[in-house]
Amino acid sequence: MVGEHNENLLSNMLPVYYTRLFPQNIFCRWLSCGSSPQPLSNRELSFTLADDVYLRYLSISNQKELHTLLLKKCPYKLDIGAVYNTKPSIARHDSIVLARELVFDIDLTDYDEVRTCCQEAKVCEKCWKFMVVACEIVDKALKEDFGFQSILWVFSGRRGIHCWVSDYEARTLDSPGRAAVADYLCLIMGGDNQNKKVNLGSENLHSSIKRALKVIDKYFKELLQDQEFISTPERLKNFLKLIPDEQLRSQVEKALQKMPEASTERWVTFVNLYETYCRENSNTTRKIKFLVEEIKIQYSYPRLDVNVTKGFNHLLKSPFSIHPKTGKVSVVFKPNNAKNIKLDEIPNLYTLLDDSSPDNIQHQNNMRAAVKSFQEVVFSLEKAEAIRRKNDANVSLEF
Ligand SMILES: [Zn+2]
Repeated sequence: MVGEHNENLLSNMLPVYYTRLFPQNIFCRWLSCGSSPQPLSNRELSFTLADDVYLRYLSISNQKELHTLLLKKCPYKLDIGAVYNTKPSIARHDSIVLARELVFDIDLTDYDEVRTCCQEAKVCEKCWKFMVVACEIVDKALKEDFGFQSILWVFSGRRGIHCWVSDYEARTLDSPGRAAVADYLCLIMGGDNQNKKVNLGSENLHSSIKRALKVIDKYFKELLQDQEFISTPERLKNFLKLIPDEQLRSQVEKALQKMPEASTERWVTFVNLYETYCRENSNTTRKIKFLVEEIKIQYSYPRLDVNVTKGFNHLLKSPFSIHPKTGKVSVVFKPNNAKNIKLDEIPNLYTLLDDSSPDNIQHQNNMRAAVKSFQEVVFSLEKAEAIRRKNDANVSLEF
């Protein structure tokens, strides 16, 4: 059925997709830049074929080889791995990982304890806003705190987003360096049995946290309305667990229980009670100095899959790969456009290749826009790489 997921159709449609729509040229240019100074052929690609057959340690030297390989194997899914000191091969156990984009994986399933509209694999326009917030916060941190420029944002194909940082400093970062970046961006700590997961201390807030809170403040009211974080008795109970001060907690509990369920109004009442309480008990409220901020962060700050970021050779789904379950294309998007993404307008293989579908034109246009956004990132990466190579050459001449 057209427009619907059908795995049997995939094998017929994928060769057409790879030939006509997959941006092979720009893809190879992006991977080449990200592999440099090693050749493109030292980069690992991995394919998932029909029936979950998994091929690792594939590599290509140029676009022609990519095209041939895609048509020969017809992968249902395409993953990208690290750059090795040699051509990747299953037989070469001694090969060393030399480079890898710094990557981030943010998935809505990690928001299941806060999102109320959907759970697990489900996603809707309401919970997509968590991804909008995450994208904006991480993008700003990478640019402003780390100075990275070449940042590619990609829809993961179902319910999340990926971020690839290709700057030379990022892709040659060692494992402890990656772990440091991941930890720096992680504010939500603790597993399922820890109620309060954010602790900002009582000193002044770090500028990156202030900046993140500015982003959160733009969306927090909408999130409160959409998710109704504190509406039902169950949700209210969980919310109250985030208030460590017993006296304040019982004041809030009494007041909120008497109110209508709407979370936006309950939130305003909570903030007012908190502020009054802090004014009246200024000697004892040091440990809840940032309680409002901590709760906002717990409900909406990005939840990163840190293992993906920390790992040097973690495979990650390629931009423009198809999600085999949804048929959706892992499109590249601009971070400042994340809020305008409509999930049902994300190009889908079945709609893209079906002229008679009412959404065909829309999906085609969005596919073109995604390729254009990809090009823009690759062109600027190529420029940065040219400058880096020139500087390297000058340095070696000087010595
Ligand atoms: Zn949802």
